[in-house]
Amino acid sequence: MKKKTGNGARAKLRAYFLDNLGRVMNSTELRKVAGNISEWARRVRELRTEEGYQILTHNDRSDLKPGQYLLLTKKPLPAFGREISKETRAFVLDRNGFTCQMCGAAAGEPHPYDPSRKTRLHIGHVIDKSQGGTDDPSNLRAICSVCNEGASNLTLDRPSAHKLLVQIRRAPAHEQLEVLEWLKRKFPDKPSR
Ligand SMILES: [Zn+2]
Repeated sequence: MKKKTGNGARAKLRAYFLDNLGRVMNSTELRKVAGNISEWARRVRELRTEEGYQILTHNDRSDLKPGQYLLLTKKPLPAFGREISKETRAFVLDRNGFTCQMCGAAAGEPHPYDPSRKTRLHIGHVIDKSQGGTDDPSNLRAICSVCNEGASNLTLDRPSAHKLLVQIRRAPAHEQLEVLEWLKRKFPDKPSR
């Protein structure tokens, strides 16, 4: 119910901004348009962060005073460079079964690489944004904080088994043992030879 009201206010604000392109508006006016809800400013922020409308404030332009808002173009920013909405996050997490798509760690369980940490999932990009990837759900996936830290700027092609083995062979023994321990944890039912 509450959510519905919020979305309604956002739609009203969106329409109002689009009807008043190029005109500086103030907070009293926008609050009224949103139906005098206390969250009107948050709804305006969502138009910026979630929908990409380039609503300008005094932070963007020195000729605007605090509490003044201005939209100059109907064209939202491309998905690139925007925040991912709560709805999209929920959709992607659910689609990926609340499991990290790189290491398979499940949300809330001890992390397989580092069991002292509880697995926290984030939304990551399959093709990194720096390489032209978008915020479209098809380019998003659940990724845990451990993998996220290690892979922040990698393109996320999965390495082949051959490449992995090459890396493991040249690693020092204690790291090879770590891999072994991890594999044993990951595949507890496989008998070791
Ligand atoms: Zn992971």
